[in-house]
Amino acid sequence: MKPLIVANWKMNPPTLAEAKKLFNLVKRGIGKIKKVKVVICPPFVYLPILKKSNLALGAQNCFWEEKGAFTGEVSAKMLKDSGCRYVILGHSERRRRFGETDEIINKKIRAAIKAKIKPIFCIGETSKERERGKTEKVIKLQLEKGLKGIKKTEIKNLVLAYEPVWAIGTGKACSAEEAQTMSLFLRKIIAKLYSLAASRNLPILYGGSVNSKNAKDYIVEARMDGLLIGGASLVAKEFIKIVKDTHSS
Ligand code: PEP
Repeated sequence: MKPLIVANWKMNPPTLAEAKKLFNLVKRGIGKIKKVKVVICPPFVYLPILKKSNLALGAQNCFWEEKGAFTGEVSAKMLKDSGCRYVILGHSERRRRFGETDEIINKKIRAAIKAKIKPIFCIGETSKERERGKTEKVIKLQLEKGLKGIKKTEIKNLVLAYEPVWAIGTGKACSAEEAQTMSLFLRKIIAKLYSLAASRNLPILYGGSVNSKNAKDYIVEARMDGLLIGGASLVAKEFIKIVKDTHSS
C-alpha cells in the first residue's frame, strides 16, 4: 500500500493568491514522486481553482443530503463534481467546535461513500479520557457508531485516521509506539466488525503534531499507512520534506 499523506489546511491560507502559491510550491516540490499519494484538503472555495495536478484533492467536511434547502451546506456529490476524491470527516475540531455527534458523522460517511468519495474518518481520545484510562472504550465507540450501516463491500472505500485530540496542534505528538498500539487495536475491531481481510486492507493514518522530524517514525516504526497533517502542511518546505522522507522510507 502506498503511504497516503493528507494535508488538512483547515481555514487557511487567508487569500486565494496565497492558496495558489502554496499549492504550486507543493506541486513543484513533490514533482513526479510516485510511491506516495498526496492529498490536499483546502477550504471549499479553493477546490475548483486548485484542481488538475499530481496532487489529489479532498474536502474538510460535507453534508449528508444531496441537495435542497440546507443553507450554507455542501453535499458530497458537489464535492465529487468539484474534483474531490476524499473528504475528512469526524475531525475533532468539527466534533468539539461544531457539535458533530457520532450519528451526524455516520450520516456524512454514508453520504460520501454513496457519492464515491473516500471518507477520511478521524477518531481520537481527549487527554482527560486518556488520563482516566478510557482511550480504548472511546475509540471503539466512535468507530462502531461512525461505521453503523456501512457494509462489508463499502469499507474498502474508507480511510481511518487515528488523531489523539491532545496531539492536534499542540506539538505533543503521540509516540510511534503508542500510534502503532492504537492502529493494531483499530484493526482488531475492524476484523470483528467486518473481516480479517477488510482489517488488513484498511489504510490507517496517524495525525497529531506531525513534522519533518517525526514523520518517518510513524511510517517506518509504527507502520502507519500514512499521515494526516495540519500545521506542517501550511509550510511548503516542511510538507515537501515530509513527503520526500516518507517516499524514501
Ligand atoms: C489535524 O488538524 O488533523 C492535525 C493533525 O493538525 P496538526 O498536524 O497541526 O497537529
